[in-house]
Amino acid sequence: MSAAVSSTVALGGDFAGALPELAVPWRAEQFPDARLLVLNEALAIELGLDPSFLRSADGVRILTGDLVPEGATPVAQAYAGHQFGGYSPRLGDGRALLLGELRGADGRLRDLHLKGSGMTPFARAGDGLAAVGPMLREYLVSEAMHALGVPTTRSLAVVATGRAVRRETMLPGALLARIASSHLRVGSFQYVAASRDLDLLRRLVDHAIRRHHPHLADAENPALALFEAVVAAQASLVARWMLVGFVHGVMNTDNMTISGETIDYGPCAFLDAFDPATVYSSIDAGGRYAYGNQPLVAEWNLARFAETLLPLMHEDPDEAIALAQEALGRFRPTYETAWTAGMLRKLGLGDGADAGEASAVIAELIPLMRDSRVDWTSFFRGLATVARGGADPVRGRFIDLAGFDAWARRWTALGPDADAMDAANPVYIPRNHLVEEALASATAGDLGPLERLLGAVTAPYVPRPGLERYAEPAPEDFGAYRTFCGT
Ligand code: AMP
Ligand code: MG
Repeated sequence: MSAAVSSTVALGGDFAGALPELAVPWRAEQFPDARLLVLNEALAIELGLDPSFLRSADGVRILTGDLVPEGATPVAQAYAGHQFGGYSPRLGDGRALLLGELRGADGRLRDLHLKGSGMTPFARAGDGLAAVGPMLREYLVSEAMHALGVPTTRSLAVVATGRAVRRETMLPGALLARIASSHLRVGSFQYVAASRDLDLLRRLVDHAIRRHHPHLADAENPALALFEAVVAAQASLVARWMLVGFVHGVMNTDNMTISGETIDYGPCAFLDAFDPATVYSSIDAGGRYAYGNQPLVAEWNLARFAETLLPLMHEDPDEAIALAQEALGRFRPTYETAWTAGMLRKLGLGDGADAGEASAVIAELIPLMRDSRVDWTSFFRGLATVARGGADPVRGRFIDLAGFDAWARRWTALGPDADAMDAANPVYIPRNHLVEEALASATAGDLGPLERLLGAVTAPYVPRPGLERYAEPAPEDFGAYRTFCGT
């Protein structure tokens, strides 16, 4: 074991110290029968933590918030948010706690946060708890996203609490220990803006800059500089979601980070059949957070973020709005550039390819895939075989065969690089039918299927013998997939 790992968890109180108005000191509920279900050893080591200590009785007590390391002050964070377009002035961590910040080997601070650790003053009607299935789901999907190169919060551990949780049925309870660059959200700024406390708003901006964009500390207009940085980070993030076929499912402003990391894996799912109208969440009846709407929603959320910063952007409200609009105007081109660059990588087309022709090839592919509801992930991976001149595994998925053939000729003429495609197109993603299977087994006490799926999706680009099943689209009888927010 390297010298950097230690038999304790050193936690600071960066957020609680800088923004006490947003931090309610609180303790986790006690779970005397807690039992570790999964530990992310690689992440623990990356953070300078000793995995064998985390597996010990004291380690598990830290991971459940029962044992608070010296110097740490666990807090529930206050925030507001637009949920499905409607504003809630007071949401906050209803069942979560920020235990404190860890300083990694790279010198950066990261939040150690618990989800499902009991009721807080923000719990409203909730029970403060979480069930094993949804916490393992967040662990699995967030770690898959990380392996796919998508910025995300990470999952350090899931601990069974030993407490039953009442949902539609009684379910075994669990909590998730989560690592994030921070838990600042658009909703944090909305909460402060509503208080009309400009000093607090200034401190929040300074804190966000310190945590995420220290090079902006000397910016002439820090609020504007922060906004521009978040616009860029979110444009890039959502482009990555779209490229891997990720549907977040609940893009409320309290679930949009300032760091540009994906957060709060609730009713999320990966596309199989390509259709921009795809919605998985049972509570999203209007399709607000459909796959194809995600860039628009991100832009809408960023407009809400901009509103919170107006008083700091310029003393003249009209000037402030003009500055914010100009900065927000950069979202679409930044998103388009990131998405197009990603599609070119998926199609194996480098900088050398004729740009106009390459754009046309992308634009033609999308409706072809949609009309035949082609499986998003396996199509691109299979297409590399076409680039190699091998037997075509994808042609048969198109209804319009002549249309596909014409497209494939145009694409092949651009000289796609099959090896580059393999590096850009995953073989394994957390497919919905596999996730359901793994979570059902885990809820019944067998973690084997979850561990195997986790093994597949955390090394997504390298096909391995024995994992063929994990690369296949859902069987026909899997039917329409629904995810539930009652987590
Ligand atoms: P989410 O959309 O899951 O991020 O949650 C939205 C809000 O509901 C946040 O304020 C959560 O803390 C709160 N919340 C969700 N589930 C529970 C629960 N079981 N108990 C208390 N609060 C909850
Ligand atoms: Mg949330």
